[in-house]
Amino acid sequence: MARLALWVRCAACGREFDTGIRMAARNFAKGTFAANYHTCPRCGARGTYRKGDYVTRDDAGAPPAASG
Ligand SMILES: [Zn+2]
Repeated sequence: MARLALWVRCAACGREFDTGIRMAARNFAKGTFAANYHTCPRCGARGTYRKGDYVTRDDAGAPPAASG
């Protein structure tokens, strides 16, 4: 079972960052998410994110290098 890392795109600066949430792909597919607070490590903006806002990545793989 693939394990996912949940990232979100910051609404303020547009950068994607790792929320630190890890879960099985099946649980993510079935689960519902209330609004969660995450703070962007780049610009410090704090915002609420819902399920549709999460970007799922393979937890085993390194994230693509951020340019800039
Ligand atoms: Zn930001």
